[in-house]
Amino acid sequence: MRITAALTETRGAPFALTPLELDDPRPGEVVVRMVSSGVCHTDLIMRDQWYPVPLPVVLGHEGAGVVEAVGDGVGHVVPGDHVVLTFNSCGDCGMCDHGRPAYCDGFFGCNFSGARPDGSSPLRRVGGGSVHGVFFGQSSFATHALATERNVVKVDRDAPLELLGPLGCGVQTGAGAVLNSLDPPAGSSLAIFGTGSVGISAIMAAVIAGCSPIVAIDLNERRLETALELGATHAIDAATDDPVERLRDLTGGADYTLETTGVASVLRQAVDALGNGGTCGLIGAAALGTEVSLDMSALLFGRSVRGIVEGDSVPRRFIPRLIDFHRQGRFPFDRLIRTYAFEDINQAVEDSEKGTTLKPVLTFAG
Ligand SMILES: [Zn+2]
Ligand SMILES: [Zn+2]
Repeated sequence: MRITAALTETRGAPFALTPLELDDPRPGEVVVRMVSSGVCHTDLIMRDQWYPVPLPVVLGHEGAGVVEAVGDGVGHVVPGDHVVLTFNSCGDCGMCDHGRPAYCDGFFGCNFSGARPDGSSPLRRVGGGSVHGVFFGQSSFATHALATERNVVKVDRDAPLELLGPLGCGVQTGAGAVLNSLDPPAGSSLAIFGTGSVGISAIMAAVIAGCSPIVAIDLNERRLETALELGATHAIDAATDDPVERLRDLTGGADYTLETTGVASVLRQAVDALGNGGTCGLIGAAALGTEVSLDMSALLFGRSVRGIVEGDSVPRRFIPRLIDFHRQGRFPFDRLIRTYAFEDINQAVEDSEKGTTLKPVLTFAG
C-alpha cells in the first residue's frame, strides 16, 4: 500500500515526508494505521548515527493506532483494534523465555537492523529503491507501520490513542525503572538526574511507589518547575548547586538514584550520591564505547549500578497498568505532551532539542 513516511536519508538530515510503498503483512505481522507517534531522544541519536542504523530509514518508535490488517496466524489482535506499538524482541532466547524481553539477545537485530529477521524491509520507494524499516519493530514516523504480533499491545477503545504513543518507549522507560526495576519500598529516598520526559515519568511513578523525598536534578529551571508540579518534593539546579552535596544533606545518602541523561559525569554523581547499600539505575543512552570512572571503595559498601532498558517492561502487562494509573488521575503523563501535526515533524524535533517541549507527539489526520 501507498503510505507517507518521514524519511531519514543521511546522517543528521531533517525528516523528509516521502511517499513509500509498504508490504502487506506476512504471517505474524500487523499493519497499523497511525494515530499518534511520540518523538523520542533515541530517534534523534539514530538520525545522528550514534548507533549504526542503516540509511535511508524510517525512524519512529512510539506509535499508537488502529490495526488495519493482520497476517496469517495473528491471534492477539484483529483489524479495528486499538494498539500501542512498543519495542520488539525475538521471543525465542533465554531472556525472552524469562519474561525479560528488553534484554532480548536479539534486541539489536529486532529493533535497529532496519530489516526483518530474513533481511528484507517492508518499505520501498515508489517505483523501486530500498528503504530500511521496522525500526523498533515499527518505523512509526509514517501514516502506516508494519509491526509484529509480539510488539503490539491491545488497549481499551476508550483510551486516548492520540496520547498513548509515548507509553511504548519513553514513558514506560521512566515509570518502569521505578516500578519494575528499582521497586523501592515506600518511604525510600529517590533522586532523578535529568528531568526530560523519561525523568518526569520516573518522578510520577515514584509518587505512586510512595518514595520520599523525591529529588529532581537538572540544569533547566523550567523543567525543574514541572518536576515539582508533578511530584518531586525537592529540586536541585545543578548549574548552581553541587547535587552530590545537596543530596547528602537532604537524604544522608540516597537509597536510590536514576541517571537519565547518558552523560558519564552525571552517572558518576548519581553513584556518589548513594548511601551505603544504595542502587543507581542507569537509563541514559550514551554513544557506543562511552566509559565512566567510579570509586571502587564506594561501590564496595553495598552500592550497585544497574542498567535498565525500557523500564524492564513486559509491555502487555505494564502499558495497560499505566493507562489505568492515568485514568485514576495518578499518572498525568499527558502533562508532558505537546501535539504536532505529522507534517510539522521538524518543528517538533527542534522544540524537543531546544527543551521547550518535553514530549512531542505527532498526530496523523484521520
Ligand atoms: Zn529474545
Ligand atoms: Zn525511545
